Amino acid sequence: MTKFTPYWWDDQPQFENNNKLPSSADVVIVGAGYTGLSAALTLSKAGKKVIVLDSEVIGYGASTRNGGMLGSGHKVSSEKAVQKYGIEIAAQLHKEANASLAFTTNLIKENNIDCELQICGRLRTSWLPQDQINMSRNLKKLKAIEHFNSNMIEPELMSESIETDLYFGGQFYQDHGAVQPRKFHYGLLNLAINAGAKVFGSRPVIQVNNISKSREPTFNVLTSTSSIQCQQVLMATNGYTRSKLSRYLSRRVLPVPSFIITTGDIGKDKVQSLLPGGHCMVETRKRYCYYRATPCGRRIMLGTRAAMHAMKAEEALPTLRKMLTEIFPSLVDVEISHCWTGFTGFSFSQLPNLSSNKGIYSALGYCGNGVAMAPYLGHKAALKILNPNQRATVFEQTPLETRLYYFGKPWFLPIASAYFRGFDLFDYCRRKRSLKKV
Ligand SMILES: Cc1cc2nc3c(=O)[nH]c(=O)nc-3n(C[C@H](O)[C@H](O)[C@H](O)COP(=O)(O)OP(=O)(O)OC[C@H]3O[C@@H](n4cnc5c(N)ncnc54)[C@H](O)[C@@H]3O)c2cc1C
Repeated sequence: MTKFTPYWWDDQPQFENNNKLPSSADVVIVGAGYTGLSAALTLSKAGKKVIVLDSEVIGYGASTRNGGMLGSGHKVSSEKAVQKYGIEIAAQLHKEANASLAFTTNLIKENNIDCELQICGRLRTSWLPQDQINMSRNLKKLKAIEHFNSNMIEPELMSESIETDLYFGGQFYQDHGAVQPRKFHYGLLNLAINAGAKVFGSRPVIQVNNISKSREPTFNVLTSTSSIQCQQVLMATNGYTRSKLSRYLSRRVLPVPSFIITTGDIGKDKVQSLLPGGHCMVETRKRYCYYRATPCGRRIMLGTRAAMHAMKAEEALPTLRKMLTEIFPSLVDVEISHCWTGFTGFSFSQLPNLSSNKGIYSALGYCGNGVAMAPYLGHKAALKILNPNQRATVFEQTPLETRLYYFGKPWFLPIASAYFRGFDLFDYCRRKRSLKKV
């Protein structure tokens, strides 16, 4: 029987805080995922009184639902970044992507967070021959910016990493890794609490009001049962930002779902034969499958875009199974033990952003790449709050755009799903044509 909750949640401790909510703090953080907890850690270490509130059980959001792939890189190619932001900012975007990976890896190592960290590398596999050429060209440009531990893998060497003939080579990222995301979240939560932060679940923030009477900002943060007065507020709600909380932010971050399945126990030998390299895998195709072995090495986990709009995991399961067997035909009859979904937060610029609106800070827009980036940007948001006049990161220069047609309810995502289904078909046709030429 398939469970429709994250594999990572099985047998994991649940943190509860039944204490009374304090009536004041220096900083209130809305959202207790990686962003909120990392910001809380830095601020608490700097001596600030910090309260973190989550509307659900702590760890309800993407931070405990993700694939646990720890890496760097943006959805936007370096070419497009140069066109839109200029050479200097584009270079900085690449450097900070690398910095986010180093930051989070060090955070885990230095604090001995027990989250099954493996620096196993990531292989980005080419769906089309042209993808291989494009990645190779892009890699040269990135290496010119700063040292970058990545190399191209020729098609004939792919069998050292994966048992499939689906791809035309790939790009290998040596420093990327994998974690058990729920354990990473729990470790970060404990670090923040030990540093002095007070973290509460089941406390939905309903409203944030600016009640400043002087030049010093003062906010009133309302929950359903009480209110907290504070000097600063950080919104760390990413893909779970809803218009009830902030109309401004909900118009700027799109809740795009992602879906994951995990196989039952197929044994270490089978997993080893399918993924002999032991790397995390992501594809270049638009449908974008990502997969890896689970930390125990006995199951395969695969995520993909089953749709652009929210749907139940039960409905997404057939698509995920189909994608799994397309890559590994020998898994056709395998049991699927878990299938679940969660929301990523997409900005229109497809880049993360740290900014403030009417004095309320926000750090979000990871576009599905937040395991390394969210703790990093949470930390940067904390530095910004501590030192508002200093630039903390290049992600203050990536605009948090909206669109005229978007009022916070993504009515167009079902249309986008249909568009992408068409695009997936087109992708298959292009691939067929490429195969004829090879
Ligand atoms: C299925 C899936 C797979 C993914 N796989 C990967 C991966 O392999 N690698 C990778 O790098 N990234 C991955 N990601 C993305 C990554 O998980 C996220 O970018 C990251 O966890 C974002 O962290 P966060 O703290 O900003 O947000 P979240 O962890 O989503 O936390 C936001 C929190 O805000 C709370 N909240 C919302 N509104 C309110 C309110 N009004 N009051 C109080 N609290 C509120 C929510 O309850 C939620 O807990 C994946 C995401 C998903 C969904």
